[in-house]
Amino acid sequence: MHLKIPVFCLALTAGISALLYAQQQEHVDLNVIHKIKVAELSTGGGRGGPPAPGADRAGSKVMDTMWYLTDRYGPRLTNSPQFRAAGEWAVGRLKEWGLSNVHLEKWATKDVPSGPIPGWEIKGYSGAMVEPTYMPIIAVPVAWTQGTNGPVTAEVVMATVASPADMEKFHGKLKGKIVFTSAIPDLTFPTSPLGTRYTPEQLADLIPELLPGGGGRGGRGGRGGAALADMTPEERTAFQAKQRTFFKDEGAVMTVQADPRGQSGTLFGGGAPRQGDPTTNLPQISMTAEHYNRIARLVEHKVPVKLTFDIKTEFTPDTDSFNVIAEIPGTTKADEVVMVGGHFDSWHYGTGATDNAAGSAVAMEVMRILKTQNLKMNRTVRMALWGGEEEGLLGSAAYVKEHFADPATMKTTTQHDKFAGYFNIDNGTGRIGGIYLQGNEMVRPIFETWFAALKDLTPGVITIRDTGGTDHQSYDRVGLPGFQFIQDPMDYNSRTHHSNMDMYDRIQAQDLEQMAVIEAAFVYNAATRPDKLPRKELPPPSPPNGGRGGRGAVAAPTAGN
Ligand SMILES: [Zn+2]
Repeated sequence: MHLKIPVFCLALTAGISALLYAQQQEHVDLNVIHKIKVAELSTGGGRGGPPAPGADRAGSKVMDTMWYLTDRYGPRLTNSPQFRAAGEWAVGRLKEWGLSNVHLEKWATKDVPSGPIPGWEIKGYSGAMVEPTYMPIIAVPVAWTQGTNGPVTAEVVMATVASPADMEKFHGKLKGKIVFTSAIPDLTFPTSPLGTRYTPEQLADLIPELLPGGGGRGGRGGRGGAALADMTPEERTAFQAKQRTFFKDEGAVMTVQADPRGQSGTLFGGGAPRQGDPTTNLPQISMTAEHYNRIARLVEHKVPVKLTFDIKTEFTPDTDSFNVIAEIPGTTKADEVVMVGGHFDSWHYGTGATDNAAGSAVAMEVMRILKTQNLKMNRTVRMALWGGEEEGLLGSAAYVKEHFADPATMKTTTQHDKFAGYFNIDNGTGRIGGIYLQGNEMVRPIFETWFAALKDLTPGVITIRDTGGTDHQSYDRVGLPGFQFIQDPMDYNSRTHHSNMDMYDRIQAQDLEQMAVIEAAFVYNAATRPDKLPRKELPPPSPPNGGRGGRGAVAAPTAGN
């Protein structure tokens, strides 16, 4: 064998020979991988829908965890009472499973540029059209907005304010009104399926190298985007500051938004600005598009419309947040760390099932499997479930800055040296089809070998692409190997992502089990291979609030996957 490899290599490109060499070197303990599969997947072959709470199919506990994080304690809007209760529950459960160093690790939001994050929850909502006829309205209050302080009934005015000219046009006309602020959503007939899995061809399309930066979200089009694009940065900042309080300054009662993705009873939304004092934000709701459009058309036809709302929301002052931490101590290299995680916080419209109780439940399940199978690992395995992801990857950024490196200076800690790799799940309920390399070509042959041992569960597609919008970026940003898996799209974009329908039912149990096996195998391999995962060069320092991949140039109310 020793002779054959170099001879064989001569006939190949340097890249492929390196790959073969690494594959020769990379060792996977197939017996352990089999144990992990049996621990999670030993189902007796039955199919069927999600099991009843507490009644996971033999082995797995992942749907039981899902139930607690959604039906029982969801939604988990950062720093809300439910978020804190869910955190306490997770700590209790992780301790029950015998994990070490289980705790809520605090971090502060008081200096977050987009504003501290107070606790906030909805305590009551009802809404209906009362003139010209009665219609109950499907809508949900937007995060960090006030209630109506009792029932209010008022007339509707349409007023989309995307430029200073719009402000002049509506000045003096909004007092005492309920203002519809979105352009009328255009609802085309849906001809594509609500949810999809990747076909082999689509997965293969993700492989090629030399792509224009993957996964960019593009600019926000429309009138507002164009008007903003024409402004100098100073003009834009001044306009946006005025825009934030325009409806309140004009004396509007409340505002209503809708978008074309949020149809058929579904609605999507984020949060209101938190700068200044968010407890004075006008009441604001996100409404399903067909209801929004009926009202808008009546107004266009000069038929007076009156709506009535009774909204109660409650702020709590504590702006400190937390990440949920748990560990399995390493044996011979306990000071070296492999991490696994995903964000624990959610939006409040549904219960945050696919975004991201799924990734959290899977990470907890990974820890449970590795612990209960009593697998000895050289390195310490540490799970972190992040807070504040939806507000801009805040929990993971705070953690990485505290433990590994400050991206503003790129000054690293000794723990930075000892870090072996991070694996993240935050793309919904879809099973794993592969992994994004984040431009780290050196890990390709390693992951190829790891996926080879999982061929019965996944095609294991590996792409050099970056993917953005979630917490592995906090690691990538300081030169640490952090990865997000490729997952089937499912109904994430059409139905669940930041919507009122992000509920337990949208979770596919077998997909979560598959994810748990694959992620557990990756974590085990990373914690036992001779070397830490190879890493890219340390990037140059990046200024604070910058460099998060083209997000937020235009103030978007929602951030994060
Ligand atoms: Zn997410």
